Amino acid sequence: MGLFTSGIYKTPDQLRKMLAPGLATHAGLVAARKLIVAGASTLEIDAAAEAAIISAGGESNFKLVPGYQHTICASVNDEIVHGIPGGRVLEPGDIVSIDCGAILGGWNGDSAITVIVPDPSQPELVAQREQLSRITQGSLWAGIARLAVAKHLNEVGDAVQGYIEAEGAKVGHSYGILTDYIGHGIGRSMHEDPPVFNYRVKQRGPEVKPGLVVAIEPMVVIGSPESYVDEDEWTVITQDGSGASHWEHTVAVHKDGIWVTTEPDGGAAGLKPFGVTPVPFA
Ligand code: MG
Ligand code: MG
Repeated sequence: MGLFTSGIYKTPDQLRKMLAPGLATHAGLVAARKLIVAGASTLEIDAAAEAAIISAGGESNFKLVPGYQHTICASVNDEIVHGIPGGRVLEPGDIVSIDCGAILGGWNGDSAITVIVPDPSQPELVAQREQLSRITQGSLWAGIARLAVAKHLNEVGDAVQGYIEAEGAKVGHSYGILTDYIGHGIGRSMHEDPPVFNYRVKQRGPEVKPGLVVAIEPMVVIGSPESYVDEDEWTVITQDGSGASHWEHTVAVHKDGIWVTTEPDGGAAGLKPFGVTPVPFA
């Protein structure tokens, strides 16, 4: 347990400081979502997200990652994560994952969404991709819901994977869950200890107790979870070309419950189907 020292647990005052960057991150994604339409370029989406984060009083924390110059990652179709915004223009039927983060007052937020561009001419493709995104998003909420009652952090990955398997079985499909990329603790840095596995692992991980703040971020694909990194040295792509989805939230554990810092309602709507009510702290 030497890896997980008391340093991963924030004080109540530190937790409070994570609310504003969470909301700035959310604002960036709200702006991005409006531009996930046919004809928009991923660079335009990046600019809109950055403007919204700045309006909320924050700054992009992705730009603080050495070598990265954008506010979002935009990963389209067979791109899973870390897609670089550019001149690519979105087309009908595209499945688009936007990952976004903000730093405000020295503290961080990190969140991701997936949106499918409507395409009436390809109903089967769109339905297949909507189902993938719905199950990925649901698995994120299943993981967050488990965090509310978990003793150890590995229970989150157990819930995420269990949800994907159960929902996949209902629709007669076995989804691929990425294991090459994981979630993380978050605070003064966007990426901190502890590692957060979005899938089942044997080691129990650190104790879930007040002060723990984690970014949970399942990455799920229609086919095989095997991936490779593009020549651009960032974009992670499925080996088999199948579509991918990525959903993420930053979640704080405090003395009275949990709160999703990257949702204005603390996650109330997403957690409702799981019978969990987030508890605000101030
Ligand atoms: Mg992220
Ligand atoms: Mg993250």
